This record gives sequence, C-alpha cells and structure tokens, in this order.
Amino acid sequence: MKIAFIGLGNMGGGMAANLVKAGHEVSAFDLSQDALARAKENGCATFTAVPDAVAQAEAVVTMLPNGGIVKAVYTSDVIGKAPAGALFLDCSTIDLATAREVAGLAEAAGYEMVDAPVSGGIAAANGGTLTFMVGGTDAAFAKASQVLEPMAKAVIHAGAIGSGQVAKMCNNMLLAIHMIGTCEALALAEKAGLDPQKFYEISSKSTGYNWSLNDYTPAPGIGAKSPADNDYQGGFASALMLKDLRLAMAGADTAGATVPLGEHATRIYEAFVDAGNGGKDFGAIFTTL
Ligand code: NAD
Repeated sequence: MKIAFIGLGNMGGGMAANLVKAGHEVSAFDLSQDALARAKENGCATFTAVPDAVAQAEAVVTMLPNGGIVKAVYTSDVIGKAPAGALFLDCSTIDLATAREVAGLAEAAGYEMVDAPVSGGIAAANGGTLTFMVGGTDAAFAKASQVLEPMAKAVIHAGAIGSGQVAKMCNNMLLAIHMIGTCEALALAEKAGLDPQKFYEISSKSTGYNWSLNDYTPAPGIGAKSPADNDYQGGFASALMLKDLRLAMAGADTAGATVPLGEHATRIYEAFVDAGNGGKDFGAIFTTL
C-alpha cells in the first residue's frame, strides 16, 4: 500500500520503519529535519510538505503530540489534499472532542477515519508490538487493521469513532490511580513495620494485586524489575501521565462523568511535575510518600 506517515518522533519513527519492513511504500513528513533523516535511513520517501506526502496515499497515519496539532494538520494539509477514498488513521493520544470533530470533518469531505491510539512505549513502537484501540465503523476498522498489523501485538475494535480515545483515557486514568494506591500501600507497610518485600509477596497474591504492584513495582529493590530500580529513569514519564490524565479530565467533562479519584490523581501528578519531576517515571510518586 501507499501510506503517508506524518509525525516521526519517538513513537512514529519506529512505527513508520515497521510499515516499510512490511513492504509498504511510506511517504514521510515531520517538521524536524533529524526525524526526516532517520525516516529516510529506514527506507521512507521523505517530503518537505504534508500535501506532497499525502498526494498519492491510500492511507494517512498521524502520530502527533496533541489535538491542536492533529486538527491543524488534517484541516490545512490532509483533508482535500489526499486522494478521494483514502483512509485516515490518527494514532496520537488526543482529547475526545477533537478526535470526534476531526473525524466529522474528514467524513463530510468523503474520507473514512479511525482514531487508533496506542498502548506501549517507544520499545513497543520500535518492536512492532503496540496495542491499538480503534474507533470507527466496521468497514473502516477492517481496512485500518491491514495498515496497523505490522506495528501491532493487538488491534482491537473499541467501537464507534472516538472509542479508541475513550479506551485510552480510561485505561491511563485507572493506571494512575492504581499506581498511586500501590505507592501509598508500599510506603504505609514500611512505616507500619512490615518489610515491603513481604508486603509485595503477600499482596501480589491477594486482593490488592494489580499491574503497578505485580509487574512494575514502584519501590526500589522490591518485586518486579521496574524503573524504580534505575532511579526512575526511562519508563513512562510523569509529564506524559499528566498529559493523559488531563485528557481524561477533559473527556469526563465532555461526557458528564464524575471521576473524583481521577481528579485527585491529576492534582498529585500536577504537583509532582510542577516540582521538576516531569522526566521521571510515573512510579516515582513513591518517593514523595
Ligand atoms: P514526539 O514529540 O517524540 O513526536 C512527535 C513528532 O511530531 C515530532 O517529531 C515533531 O517534530 C512532530 N510534529 C509536531 N508538529 C508537527 C506538524 N505540525 N507536522 C508534522 N510533524 C509534527 O512524541 P511521541 O512520544 O512520538 O508521541 C506521539 C504521540 O504518541 C503523542 O500523542 C503521545 O501522547 C502518544 N504516545 C506516546 C507514548 C510514548 O511512550 N512516547 C506512548 C503512547 C502514546
């Protein structure tokens, strides 16, 4: 297939390379010259303007920082510039309202679009093992799956347009909440006189078990290997978790949902990032307790 790929950063760079490896013809664009040079090394054809990159595309994939940029790129340079019948796949993590708005504009112009945000970080993007949660019609999902498979461990149809972003924001809000809860429980165990390693052994096999405790233990030297064992370097940056929590809070507002623990988790990560810790793994909340 002829695929245009816009946004070749930490995530998009590896994703575009995996599309090339699968035999697709990839036309790439990014504002960064370094990102473009890397894409060229990985076998992409590179362009200096989005309309040129999408001019022949059967599918357009975007992996961009936020909803404002996604909307600007589609409305200025993709809608009306890509050939009629091209499929649009936005894999960025963005707010629900913008995802629905851009898809509506694409549809009004005669294009099919899916929102397809991902779970998995840079290693999964490079390794082709991302999980895609896809919102769109059955027909659009079937076409999108062919594009997404070479980049994926799993491609799941979440529901109608916007459902991928709903799944992503709910998942990451839940992740933030159980991470903070896990940090609190580990710190309380230690302060109350229980060896935190014993707490891990017991709770990871009891009703307190959860991914943050069992697979990503946020206390150094305890339980599963995680960024905690490397001074909270690498992993999932607190600033990115805060971005996702803010999207979840905006989504809750749009949906009229009440999310008291989500709001509290957002305030906790805001304070942590404001104190200069945005680059630390999100399990570093443990160090504040
Ligand atoms: P990044 O900042 O590394 O990459 C974004 C790229 O977009 C950059 O190369 C930038 O130059 C480019 N860009 C910005 N504006 C542009 C424009 N107008 N036209 C073309 N290119 C433009 O970010 P990333 O880590 O690759 O994340 C991309 C998306 O994936 C975000 O929405 C993020 O939330 C999501 N995500 C990231 C991770 C992660 O671990 N990094 C995990 C899951 C989801």
